Amino acid sequence: MAIMITDECISCNACEAECPNIAIYSPGAPYILGGQEFAALNEEHTYIVPDKCTECVGFYDEPQCIPACPTEAIVPDPNRVETKEQLMAKKEHLDQVGR
Ligand code: SF4
Ligand code: SF4
Repeated sequence: MAIMITDECISCNACEAECPNIAIYSPGAPYILGGQEFAALNEEHTYIVPDKCTECVGFYDEPQCIPACPTEAIVPDPNRVETKEQLMAKKEHLDQVGR
């Protein structure tokens, strides 16, 4: 499943640099996917783009953002359950279209 950021986030940005998929953005900042810019998904706190998060599959054994967070605001998203195969396919898609 994709990983999400909850309202516990204090927008310290510690997680942003850890993401190999460039899936984490500051509140209010537009995100980039496939060379296109899209409106921010959250204005209140740092957010993860579900279409870009592979749970770090294809790069690392564990999500890199979770241990970076001082407030335990980064958790699995129960509404976006994905298999490892689906996550790898997402990673390969991002390899092709660009992050
Ligand atoms: S789990 Fe990995 S890919 Fe997903 S947002 Fe965190 S660092 Fe990025
Ligand atoms: S590390 Fe945690 S508190 Fe800091 S921006 Fe990321 S989710 Fe928010």
